Amino acid sequence: EAKGKGRRQIQEFDPDLKAVAERQRLIEQDLEAAIRSGAIETWFQPQIDLESNGIAGFEALVRWHHPRLGFVSPPEIVTAAQSLHLAETLTAHIAASVCKLLTRLPSLELPDVTVALNISPREFALYSVADMLELVTCQHGVNPARLEIEITEEAILDSDGAGEQLKRLETAGYKLAVDDFGMGHSSLAYLISLKIDRLKIDRSFARNVAASRPNQDLIAALVGLGYALSLDIVVEGVETAEDAAILKMLGCRVAQGYFFARPMPVEALIAWIGRHRQEAGERKAVA
Ligand code: C2E
Ligand code: MG
Ligand code: MG
Ligand code: MG
Repeated sequence: EAKGKGRRQIQEFDPDLKAVAERQRLIEQDLEAAIRSGAIETWFQPQIDLESNGIAGFEALVRWHHPRLGFVSPPEIVTAAQSLHLAETLTAHIAASVCKLLTRLPSLELPDVTVALNISPREFALYSVADMLELVTCQHGVNPARLEIEITEEAILDSDGAGEQLKRLETAGYKLAVDDFGMGHSSLAYLISLKIDRLKIDRSFARNVAASRPNQDLIAALVGLGYALSLDIVVEGVETAEDAAILKMLGCRVAQGYFFARPMPVEALIAWIGRHRQEAGERKAVA
């Protein structure tokens, strides 16, 4: 009787659990080969200067279209890499793509913009992020000041020895940004001592900001904090013209979101840069 019940329960839960386990198994089985073959790609999303409408930078975002599973999300990729001891391999691969884009930007008349790379908090405990980044940028002859490292507030809390590596990177000239700002609890003292360059306000605060007075107040306060501490404020997740206009009015300098552009593979990005420049030129000619 008990045995039969147990078996029935397994049958009830099996399909879902099996699918989840099978998905994870395939991700883990194929991850390393996918990194090496280039099936794991680095896409880039533009960041726009709200004042000039010019290009302020790009954020690198990992992408994997698995032949059987379809879209594998960045957190799934990053988590699998960490459990397979491939975190450094994965991030070095993405950092190399960032450096390759950086070496192309001067010929696209964008010699000064930054390209941002996400580093998850756990990575600082798994390997020396600072050693890896210094090696990769050196190999590509890239100026560290063009590379921005996006960390979350969690990393700033320094539970995994991130602080020391971040200090080293900051001293070497890399730019530092705090991602998803406002969702965690970061110490203002750390923001100052690490000489953080930018705060990226979490997407949840930018969404529908035109319709949310509390979010407008919050963003205005963060812009004020930014001025006081000499931090640039970047807003993510800007999806509409109304939100972009309000954010500009509130004093945000840089914005990123589907309203401006989605993340794109590098060749599409280069075409987008050309179109963006042409449109900006046309606007100037009309004005
Ligand atoms: P994030 O760093 O906060 O990146 C922004 C996320 O918002 C990206 O999701 C981007 O595609 C999405 N996004 C941009 N504009 C809009 C918008 O207007 N509306 C909406 N709804 N979403 C928008 P994505 O690429 O799925 O990445 C999710 C998270 O995964 C990232 O959040 C980041 O924390 C992590 N991640 C992505 N790539 C990497 C990577 O190469 N390494 C590591 N360690 N983490 C990564
Ligand atoms: Mg980010
Ligand atoms: Mg993030
Ligand atoms: Mg974010």
